[in-house]
Amino acid sequence: MAQMKKLAALFILLITALSSGCTNKPNRYQAEFISLFDTVTVIVGYSESREDFTLLAEKIKNKLEEYHMLYDIYNEYEGINNIKTINDNAGTAPVQVDGKIIDLLEFALEQYEATGGAVNVAMGSVLSIWHDYRTRGINSPANAHLPPPELLREAARHTDIYDIKIDKELSTVYLNDPDMRLDVGAVAKGYAVEQTALWLERQGVTNLLLSVGGNVRAIGGKLDGEYPNMPWVISIRNPDKSAPDSDLMSVLIADGSLVSSGGYERYYTVDGARYHHIINPDTLMPSDYYEAVSVICPGSGMADALSTAIFNMPPKKSMNYIESIPNTEAIFIFKDGSIEYTSGFESLIYSNQ
Ligand code: ADP
Ligand code: MG
Repeated sequence: MAQMKKLAALFILLITALSSGCTNKPNRYQAEFISLFDTVTVIVGYSESREDFTLLAEKIKNKLEEYHMLYDIYNEYEGINNIKTINDNAGTAPVQVDGKIIDLLEFALEQYEATGGAVNVAMGSVLSIWHDYRTRGINSPANAHLPPPELLREAARHTDIYDIKIDKELSTVYLNDPDMRLDVGAVAKGYAVEQTALWLERQGVTNLLLSVGGNVRAIGGKLDGEYPNMPWVISIRNPDKSAPDSDLMSVLIADGSLVSSGGYERYYTVDGARYHHIINPDTLMPSDYYEAVSVICPGSGMADALSTAIFNMPPKKSMNYIESIPNTEAIFIFKDGSIEYTSGFESLIYSNQ
């Protein structure tokens, strides 16, 4: 209940009309709020009136909020069994959950298998150690330390994804290892955005842009350009924060998704070195092949899972892997500022800053 109140208190819906529109064109509006998935949600869409758009934005917010509560690993919500409930019952009891949790976990298992384990939602025991050390290091930089390798190695013994036991008939999930924990941070946001977009499409929404913390999903194209249904122009952030321009480039996206993963936003510093939040399952350390990567593909669930996964793969392997997936492109930004992209990426670039 306290959490619900907190969510409600944090909820700010800012609606802005972005253009007045001509007689035959609906107006473009934008809504922003900050209560979900620890980040900013932006919705851009078209409606006849501000009231219509506010109603739509509220519906989207409610849908995302439902996913947010189900996929939360840190907080409990009254009357809901979520991922935290599953974790709290590890090795003890199967937990009855909403089908949306089972769908997410089945999707995560598929991605684990497809990426050779580069993204593993059963790594919670390891990730929670990093999370605790990072939080302490940020709050008290003088006392920032790295987790002891033995601690990480011991936790890594409890990350077998096949210990997630799903009973679809009973709609239950059981962790068959008392020390295992789920962490769905690498896939949940994108999966929730994708399911919300599919739901909007079923409601007849044809032109809308949804971004949850940079997890961008476009339905159709934009309506307010020179021609109707032109692709949206989406910025890719420059991981080098000292660069004069905060954007690296912009790309064109219609009916598709762009998701980035990088080490430049969530990190802490130990002895002058940065340690970020994407952990290589092989080394149990922050992955250091790239500064950032972005993936463009039709679905946001895939884009989110893939961006975390390729961030954990060495350059040739990640390039070949993305090239093997149809309609999927990626950009790799290296620590020295150099850039590589898959063969079809260049044709999506709108402008290089
Ligand atoms: P962000 O959450 O910043 O959008 P990602 O989608 O790349 O970025 O997800 C990073 C999160 O995924 C981390 O905060 C952590 O919870 C989780 N994570 C980190 N490494 C892995 C991994 N190898 N496999 C699965 N999840 C991971
Ligand atoms: Mg991800």
